[in-house]
Amino acid sequence: MLSTPLFGVLVLSQSKAFNCPNCPIFGSLIAFRLFYALDLGGTNFRVLRVQLGGKDGGIVSQEFAEVSIPQDLMVGTSDELFDYIAAELSKFVAQEGPEFQLPTGRQRELGFTFSFPVMQSSIDSGTLIKWTKGFSIDDAVGQDVVAELTRALERQGLDMRVSALVNDTVGTLAGGRYSNKDVVAAVILGTGTNAAYVECAHAIPKWHGLLPKSGEMVINMEWGNFRSSHLPLTEYDYCLDAESLNPGEQVFEKIISGMYLGEIVRRVLCRIAEEVSLFGDTVPPKLKVPFVLRTPHMSAMHHDTSSDLKVVGDKLRDILEIPNSSLKERKLVVQLCDIVAARGARLAAAGILGILKKLGRETFKDGENQRTVIALDGGLYEHYAEYSKCLESTIAELLGEKVSESIVIEHSNDGSGIGAALLAASHSQYL
Ligand code: ADP
Ligand code: MG
Repeated sequence: MLSTPLFGVLVLSQSKAFNCPNCPIFGSLIAFRLFYALDLGGTNFRVLRVQLGGKDGGIVSQEFAEVSIPQDLMVGTSDELFDYIAAELSKFVAQEGPEFQLPTGRQRELGFTFSFPVMQSSIDSGTLIKWTKGFSIDDAVGQDVVAELTRALERQGLDMRVSALVNDTVGTLAGGRYSNKDVVAAVILGTGTNAAYVECAHAIPKWHGLLPKSGEMVINMEWGNFRSSHLPLTEYDYCLDAESLNPGEQVFEKIISGMYLGEIVRRVLCRIAEEVSLFGDTVPPKLKVPFVLRTPHMSAMHHDTSSDLKVVGDKLRDILEIPNSSLKERKLVVQLCDIVAARGARLAAAGILGILKKLGRETFKDGENQRTVIALDGGLYEHYAEYSKCLESTIAELLGEKVSESIVIEHSNDGSGIGAALLAASHSQYL
């Protein structure tokens, strides 16, 4: 049983582990070549081309294209979703110059970052357990997502092998660890949230296979699904959950991640409008529309520094169709954004502390000055400054000054895609 109360049950219920012979992440890495990554996480997906420079050569170049996923494909069929993705990937490859031509007979290789809960049976196969983050495609559940993608690539006539299936947290950990060996965990704060960390293999009771030579393995925590009677929820959280596509699931994700923060703010504003006539005698109809207020809108309002809170006024007018808000109303909106963002950020910080405690790195040990790096990525962390500021200050507050000096939170920009390409390289068929 894992020792941190926060994650004991969680890790045992939904973890998966990877086993590479010499290193917990990369068994061995192939020399000079071209690899691709496909990152399917939430609202957008990304295709990447990564050129590696051979042993110790690092990453020579990387290019990417980002495509948004049409709403109807998120709730359609598996073939429709994967055909769309394969078609975009095919376009990306078709546009590349002659310098990227592979020798005849050589297959392109791809790392597939798929950030939904998967029962992973090997490095290049895994069945989808359930959808999260607004996706609901019934016929894909229980299917091998690599096989689904491979068939779609074949339908496109694209000769590409999926050589690694990777969760975004594992990809970020791999990408971070590749450039810095002090990286011990990765956390994603984007549309959804999740974390992965490097664990001693002998501390994983559910692993019954051969122990890896490195003595370490990667645990994908699926922490978005954490829930506990010790985690206080409000009536807004209960209602949001009950009306979601996945009631009862991803409870932690629903209070800390980007898909939901704006929606929580909307729900609270709607209640205040109903009960004490904020915004006038009638409740503005737009305020009753679920998910109309997105987290980027919330963050724009939260960061408004103008004396008349003009940005807040503009957002209220443009998104919620509230034309003449008063300064007092705008101030209340900012205050609410602050409360909702701070709750999410502080809980995310508590999650990170849970990992540090599990690794025994939350206290100061005399004579040791080991650096601990946590790689963080995701649009919420990257773009919502008040959120990331609060997350970082909470970690410092929880750890105390002395320990904080050795713990580094590092933004791993696009680490998951790069990590997936690196993992594709380390599992290449041409090794
Ligand atoms: P994914 O989880 O889909 O991989 P990303 O890491 O690309 O997502 O992050 C996208 C999410 O980040 C959006 O769904 C949104 O919640 C959040 N986000 C994007 N831009 C902003 C912003 N300016 N302020 C706050 N949150 C943002
Ligand atoms: Mg992502």
